[in-house]
Amino acid sequence: MRMLRPLPLVLTFPAMLLDAYTQPVALLGYPVGHSRSPLIHNTAFQAQGLNYVYLALPVAPSDLKAAVGGLRALHFRGANVTIPHKEAVLPLMDTLSSQAAAVGAVNTIVCRRAEQEGPVTLYGDNTDVAGFLAPLALLAASLQEVDMLVFGAGGAARAVVYALLTTFRPARLTIAARNQAQAERLATAFAAYDTRAALRTMPLKDAAAAARTSRLLVNATPLGMAPLEDYTPLQTPASTGQIVYDLVYTPTRLLREAASHGAIALGGLEMLIGQAAASYIQWTGHPMPTEVVRAALQAGLQR
Ligand code: NAP
Repeated sequence: MRMLRPLPLVLTFPAMLLDAYTQPVALLGYPVGHSRSPLIHNTAFQAQGLNYVYLALPVAPSDLKAAVGGLRALHFRGANVTIPHKEAVLPLMDTLSSQAAAVGAVNTIVCRRAEQEGPVTLYGDNTDVAGFLAPLALLAASLQEVDMLVFGAGGAARAVVYALLTTFRPARLTIAARNQAQAERLATAFAAYDTRAALRTMPLKDAAAAARTSRLLVNATPLGMAPLEDYTPLQTPASTGQIVYDLVYTPTRLLREAASHGAIALGGLEMLIGQAAASYIQWTGHPMPTEVVRAALQAGLQR
């Protein structure tokens, strides 16, 4: 069995003092040892001197309901939810954001209490949508009503397809996946948001022509991520005028080739930070100090 390397903790602030008033936030997943979220949120709490702590908690699927009940009982401020619980946690929420309801997955829980001793309500949100869109904000003008291509049809692709359909009104939005039936299910699930009949699907291996004519290419597969570092979903590198957005947050061949051929290359680290920032502000009321978090993540990724 491959041993997971402990993630380095970058402590550049005075150590946080935990006391009787510390507000806990959890990550519920299984496993959670790979997660960068504790580094992100604890770095931000420390940088802003907030009395919060973020804990990664491995929760087996059979324990999910009890774990969510524990958030209420133990006065957690909230939680992130990751694989494999993002869909299963949905019916355990009291209310949902429109994004969580549309995507069918929750990655953020906010524990809300109207009065000090009142009952807790659990609000489920999907900040992957906002996180994905964050790095595209400056490019939004060039993304209206153009052709787009998404590689992959899994959980991340759902948030991406919803975000693209509802934000940019694409002329054509192609979902290319090695399992075309899965791509078709995804297209069907979002048909209600496809007001321009932009969605179509195709096998990944046939996507070369669609890739050439798309302004935006999004990789929502693990191709490029260890142990698939040598792989890319694109047969021919993207070129000038195209925007390539890889959700993988380590540097990838796809992005290296895109940048060297004049395309705009966006890495998944920005989405990771964007989704975290959209959760953080809901728990703390403070905008996340993203520069400090980015530096901590980059230092962590280099080790
Ligand atoms: P997922 O639900 O497992 O979906 C992965 C998709 O990629 C599926 O369509 C899968 O097809 C396909 N795929 C897997 N291996 C492949 C291969 N060797 N060749 C071609 N297609 C392959 O995973 P996910 O949660 O959507 O995540 C996808 C990627 O996005 C991961 O790299 C993840 O780290 C990244 N991500 C990044 C962020 C961020 O914040 N930056 C957030 C979420 C996800 P099959 O169904 O046929 O296996």
